Amino acid sequence: MKVLKIDHLGIAVNSIEAGKGFWTDVLGLKFEGSETVAEQKVTTAFFPVGESEVELLESTAPDGPVAKYIEKKGEGIQHIAFRVENIEGALTELKEKGVRLIDEKPRTGAGGAKIAFLHPKSTNGILVELCERSGK
Ligand code: ZN
Repeated sequence: MKVLKIDHLGIAVNSIEAGKGFWTDVLGLKFEGSETVAEQKVTTAFFPVGESEVELLESTAPDGPVAKYIEKKGEGIQHIAFRVENIEGALTELKEKGVRLIDEKPRTGAGGAKIAFLHPKSTNGILVELCERSGK
């Protein structure tokens, strides 16, 4: 598999509206709009940083994965996403290497990307996302 770059850092926040000031007003990043991914019970907001992005994640339901994360650990970095060339091939290769996968097959994430999560038990406790984007 080929990892191209860190695509984004996923940061769990209680409220995008309340939390985005640090990223825009203090760091001067550009707010590129938000998008709700109903399947994940999350609203995401993207702030490009060079070739990567900061992604703020706000839960849309108390039982969503982001709400559960904040309940356990508080606000903070929830996942790291690596851009890969061929996500299906990468998942096959990781499975062969004994890596535990949360998603055996890619699903659709924000921005129409193909995404899949790896289990933190296989990654030193970090929730790792793989993503593949067409046309970028
Ligand atoms: Zn993500």
